[in-house]
Amino acid sequence: MGGRIKGDLEKYLRQQLDLGFKEIYLPFESTPMTPPKPRTLPVLSIERFAEAETLDHLYRTIKDCRLCPLWKTRTKFVFGDGSPEAEIMFIGEAPGRDEDLQGIPFVGRAGKLLNKMLDDVGLRREDVYIANILKSRPPENRDPEPEEVEACEPFLHAQIKLLKPKIICSLGRIAAQTLLRTKMTLGEMRGRWFDYQGTKFMVTYHPAAILRAMNNYESLIDDLKRLLKELRKLRA
Ligand code: URA
Repeated sequence: MGGRIKGDLEKYLRQQLDLGFKEIYLPFESTPMTPPKPRTLPVLSIERFAEAETLDHLYRTIKDCRLCPLWKTRTKFVFGDGSPEAEIMFIGEAPGRDEDLQGIPFVGRAGKLLNKMLDDVGLRREDVYIANILKSRPPENRDPEPEEVEACEPFLHAQIKLLKPKIICSLGRIAAQTLLRTKMTLGEMRGRWFDYQGTKFMVTYHPAAILRAMNNYESLIDDLKRLLKELRKLRA
């Protein structure tokens, strides 16, 4: 095929030369270099969210959710942030004030500290994926209510199914106890591997707790290093 096109082209150019033309004219419209348009999947009704094909599709399907009363007080729905190719997923509890205003998880003081800690171990925020159990802010940052978790956790499951992270790291006692359905203390959960939705799951401090007691900074860094060591083993 390629050979035939080359042959035809050569013939055409020779003819043009024979006719005395020294230049050829290529109309701009004929340049076959226009990249294909990205496929925009139609928004599903929220009951069919589990059929979403990409994280963006899932976001567009659930962003106006009213399954629990938190929609009444939220400013923005806080879906998740980071790379859809991420191998590491961090899960916090729920958006706080800054996150509610911006619609992005972990952008306040705790988020800035998280970014710094990721940087300390050679990770970039753009390479990981960050989400919360609840996608809407509970008033006054109170702990999530069981009904809110029941309504929102399936969205987290759908995010995990689409992202397929190799390791999930939950941030803080409340997130870990909620996801693992346990009353274990953070001290009991840290340093152990669990399973959540078929994915390796570990528990570390919430960066906000580090802001309150900086003495745990190194412990959180140690946890991140342990996570990276496990990731290297999983890749091998
Ligand atoms: N704390 C959380 O658990 N999540 C956020 O997004 C911000 C603070």
